[in-house]
Amino acid sequence: MAKVSESFMRLQAGYLFPEVARRIDAWQQKNPGEKVLRLSIGNTTEALPQAIARAMHEKIDLLSSRETYTGYGDEQGDRPLREALREHYQKEYGVSMPVSAFFVSDGAKSDAANIQSIFSASAIPAIQDPAYPVYVDSSVAGGHTGEYENGGYRGIVYMPCDASNGFVAVPPAEHADLIYLCFPNNPTGAVATKDELKAFVDYAHREKAIIIFDSAYSDYIESEGIPHSIYEIEGAEDCAIEIGSFSKNAGFTGVRLGWTIVPEHLYGDETVHRLWNRRQCTFFNGASNIAQSGGIAALSPQGRKECLDLVGYYKKNAEIIRTGLSEIGLECYGGINSPYIWTKCPDGMSSWDFFDFLLDKTHTAVTPGSGFGKKGEGFVRISAYGHRENIEEAVASIKENL
Ligand code: PLP
Repeated sequence: MAKVSESFMRLQAGYLFPEVARRIDAWQQKNPGEKVLRLSIGNTTEALPQAIARAMHEKIDLLSSRETYTGYGDEQGDRPLREALREHYQKEYGVSMPVSAFFVSDGAKSDAANIQSIFSASAIPAIQDPAYPVYVDSSVAGGHTGEYENGGYRGIVYMPCDASNGFVAVPPAEHADLIYLCFPNNPTGAVATKDELKAFVDYAHREKAIIIFDSAYSDYIESEGIPHSIYEIEGAEDCAIEIGSFSKNAGFTGVRLGWTIVPEHLYGDETVHRLWNRRQCTFFNGASNIAQSGGIAALSPQGRKECLDLVGYYKKNAEIIRTGLSEIGLECYGGINSPYIWTKCPDGMSSWDFFDFLLDKTHTAVTPGSGFGKKGEGFVRISAYGHRENIEEAVASIKENL
């Protein structure tokens, strides 16, 4: 048989969420007829904003007529959407980026992983611990690491995040080439201040490193003075790539649409922009044109209003969870500028033990923090994505049965 990739073979066991699903299924089999209250996966549940749904219906009508049908679009994304994104950054964040820097995609997850492919396998990744698993797994699959040992991969510079640093890492003491940052953070819900991000931009300049900034949850920020985009930090346009998504603000988890900003020059060099363009043109045929018409509508004034209302709904859920759990003495972080509540397991329990305990006693499914990295051990992530009535039922069940 053809030999498989050694790098892929290095990946540990199952991806976190399939394992969560497996345990829920096993529990369900043992407890037939019982309802599982799911606060586990960050999957949106509410209807698409109407302005967006209308725009996508209209696009389908255009595609349904020979006169107005269109096929493949530009690999980099349709020009009107890239322009709308440029204006959005300018208007809401005061960030000026040329249209050429915006690459539309089918979502942030694939971009966060695919970006690895244009960098050398010798490029050293620095990743927050805990982190959205894609950063570590794509670094492993991309051949940037050695073997897995003691809860981590050799070759990754782990940047620990815990209560002592407010779950915001500080730049590492050693050299790294690719620094993954995500704020508001999944899983901890932490946000970074301008000064905290500036420290990373300064580090990047010192080390000639590139920051890959995941801003998938930027619309959840409500606290004053917290940057929504890494480009709000002086000097970031020379050292940072930013990845964005319509999943969590426009409800596009199933529709699929995101973008990546790659400045035309990083450290005065056009190579990264050229290679990303080359990669997209070769391996990607553009995002769905229906989704892109929805994306344009999402960035219109009415679309923005409806998206922020949708975000407000999930944020209210987060508040209900955070308040309810805090009332019974659980230590909760996040959940203010974020849909995730990072909760400390009581009585020194491990993440998986508390996961099983919650499922058994309260019929609530959460996500074990240890699945996000070694430093996530002893925590669970509780997601605010769900219908309000389910969120209320889950919080009531936890309060009553824990
Ligand atoms: N980035 C982060 C930090 C996420 O938590 C998620 C999804 O949960 C994504 C990216 C995925 O975004 P998309 O649906 O656009 O692929």
